[in-house]
Amino acid sequence: MSGPCERFYVQRADGVGDRAIPVGISSCLLGERVRFDGGHKLDRSLRDTLGALVTWVPVCPEAECGMPVPREPLRLTGDPVEPRLITVRTGVDHTAEMQAWAARRLDALALDGLCGFVFKNRSPSCGLRCVAIHPPGDGATTLDSVGLFARAFRLRFPLLPVEEDESLRDPARRALFIERLLAFAREREQRRRVSPTPPW
Ligand code: SF4
Repeated sequence: MSGPCERFYVQRADGVGDRAIPVGISSCLLGERVRFDGGHKLDRSLRDTLGALVTWVPVCPEAECGMPVPREPLRLTGDPVEPRLITVRTGVDHTAEMQAWAARRLDALALDGLCGFVFKNRSPSCGLRCVAIHPPGDGATTLDSVGLFARAFRLRFPLLPVEEDESLRDPARRALFIERLLAFAREREQRRRVSPTPPW
């Protein structure tokens, strides 16, 4: 039986061979230069330690939905439950294009057999919790929203284990996250054996 720190292999989505558990990750955490300022947020621990157990599936919502690198920074505004994704200086609203892209990307991730996701914290696109939101007018900024892509992801895959980079610096939370990934992957493999046709 696999222990919590051993690789667990699942059948590839195309049915050709096996691979370590596929787990999505905000691309900048792997060192990809996709941030608004042209930089990255490489997390060596995620890349090298957790990365030894999983197959990373990098996703950058802002770059993949067509925004340039570098680009004007974005922020969330309005209702924390239904926020708008707006450029900070010029006020361009990217909400609709992000939501349309996310729907297509999530379809593709479902077919890829994804077992979890590690999101970049505080991002207006990727942040999983406590993301800054700016009310219209002069109201005070609060930290009670969720990034637009992270929100769409949770709605589409409510059972998938998800975490943020910052939380995974805590060894106990990281161990728990790995356990949840393994449990989810094992259950999915059982479902796949019973019914070879996705979704599982
Ligand atoms: S936080 Fe998300 S949207 Fe921002 S650069 Fe990283 S992957 Fe791209």
